[in-house]
Amino acid sequence: MVDQNLRIGFIGIGNMGNPMTGNLVKAGWKVTGYDADASKMRAFTAAHGGATAASLAELGGKSDVVITMLPDGHIVRRVVLGADGADDCLVKGLAKGTTIIDMSSSAPVGTRKLGEDLRQYGIALLDAPVSGGVKGAVAATMSIMIGGDRALAERYDALLSAMGKRFYVGSLGAGHAAKVLNNYVSAAGLAAAAEAVRVAERFGIEPQVLVNVINASTGRNNSTENKFTQFILNGKFNAGFALGLMAKDLTLAMEVAEACNVPAELGHATLALWKKAESALGAKADHTEIARYVNEQ
Ligand code: NAD
Repeated sequence: MVDQNLRIGFIGIGNMGNPMTGNLVKAGWKVTGYDADASKMRAFTAAHGGATAASLAELGGKSDVVITMLPDGHIVRRVVLGADGADDCLVKGLAKGTTIIDMSSSAPVGTRKLGEDLRQYGIALLDAPVSGGVKGAVAATMSIMIGGDRALAERYDALLSAMGKRFYVGSLGAGHAAKVLNNYVSAAGLAAAAEAVRVAERFGIEPQVLVNVINASTGRNNSTENKFTQFILNGKFNAGFALGLMAKDLTLAMEVAEACNVPAELGHATLALWKKAESALGAKADHTEIARYVNEQ
């Protein structure tokens, strides 16, 4: 049941944020959006008809709960608390008793620190990162991995259910840890398939034939089933998730592994490969271009 009085602020209306806000508006919630890029706010209003705020403080003053969908945890921290000389920030407008839900793929340790720092303002924090890509954001089928106080998470269940399937993972930061570990497995699977396709082609096997065989066999994964045919073999490379963001998630996954004293040798090799691709292609390249990078080595 939608609480018509709950005012939602949404910061970061990019590739994911735009369709996510669309689903919230469609489900009947009142959404005020904010993005550092004014063209993203215009696109939000044009597509979904929600309101926008002129500053973070203004958005805070108009919201009972604020969702962040920003590139990384450093930016989330800057937007929430203000830092690096930033004058405008959320806590200047957000009242005591409100909640921030960080749906970005942020660093788990930074999320715990942000939760502690927000306590002095009487503002609660949940982490609720997502998986499923732009397609999942549009269809509201993303998996949402929730960390933080369980009763608080349940209070926002109806809100989160408008965007996808909810999985309560554990205490604050656990959602972010689960998310970057998922992306480690996803990045390794994509890179492994790209290497296999390259070898197959050299051996005289058509790439699509190998992908079809893998998809009917034990090597299949999300990349072979969904990314190779849709975004890679046709040369489109337009999945909508940046290569730099995947490299960031891998870095965070290896930081978690290190904090937990797990050597994660394959993870470090995977990270090194993605970092090299990022240097060669640029952070803004689509993440599926890792296959092109592997193919050209
Ligand atoms: P994006 O770059 O398309 O969107 C981020 C938005 O944040 C942009 O519109 C940008 O202008 C805005 N922004 C940046 N700094 C800001 C600031 N200081 N104040 C206000 N707005 C600011 O990125 P995205 O692909 O939508 O990803 C967002 C998050 O979701 C990332 O953490 C990413 O890792 C994660 N994610 C992305 C996907 C995907 O498929 N794209 C899937 C799952 C998770």
